[in-house]
Amino acid sequence: MKRRTIIITSIISTASFLVANGQVQEEKSIFHYSVMDAMRNGVYTGDISAKSLAHKGNFGLGTYNNLDGEMIALDGIFYRVAPDGRVTKVETDRLVPFASIVFFKADMEYEISSIKTIEMLQKEIISKLPSANKPYALRIECTFESIAVGGANKLQDDNITGLAELMKTRPLYKRKQISGTLIGFYNPPSFASIDLSPFHFHFLSDDKTFGGHLVSGELSSVKIKISIDEKPGYEIILPQENKMFNKHWPQQNDIKSSY
Ligand SMILES: [Zn+2]
Repeated sequence: MKRRTIIITSIISTASFLVANGQVQEEKSIFHYSVMDAMRNGVYTGDISAKSLAHKGNFGLGTYNNLDGEMIALDGIFYRVAPDGRVTKVETDRLVPFASIVFFKADMEYEISSIKTIEMLQKEIISKLPSANKPYALRIECTFESIAVGGANKLQDDNITGLAELMKTRPLYKRKQISGTLIGFYNPPSFASIDLSPFHFHFLSDDKTFGGHLVSGELSSVKIKISIDEKPGYEIILPQENKMFNKHWPQQNDIKSSY
């Protein structure tokens, strides 16, 4: 039964597009393992490995079980930012409680300069999106004058503190004058329970020694290269054997459905 459900989900989420020469081209959805609402409610363990995720895409972000580091996938390599800030290629059997992964293929690519803040960068991206109601994968090559990225501290198995509370004391790693890639997503407001909306970015330096969840930063005047990949939707697979995921979450007290 479990297997059948997964196959049906993947058929529904694979959209076909007719390209100019009349050939049908398939564009895969964003593969999402679990949802942000699960971590907001203290679900930090999953049953999918980094190796299995690699079959779902070559680009994306997430975290590892018990928040034991942050995940970055770039050009088919899965990295782990350990709680001490060190970046390594991840062990293929390491399990993941939350991830957003795609096969990245840019639909639109351009360069800009004179963008100083992350807020300006986000406004610039939104102005270029064909629709603010569809999801996009975003690859941005840039240089920061200064940047702060967040990591994660490993939790005990029984720690079910919600993510918002944990993020107040997350480790922060800072650098000056560093070039690298922002790996991220635009998620429309209507999908805010699946992932951070409107933007979720992780950063990885060009030398692959520094990275994490983008918290703040100031961009340099060096040209920024923005690549945008429109996706037809989300393919979501939820943790299968997870007591915390299966239990009632506080915001579900309202039993009435409303339009
Ligand atoms: Zn993140």
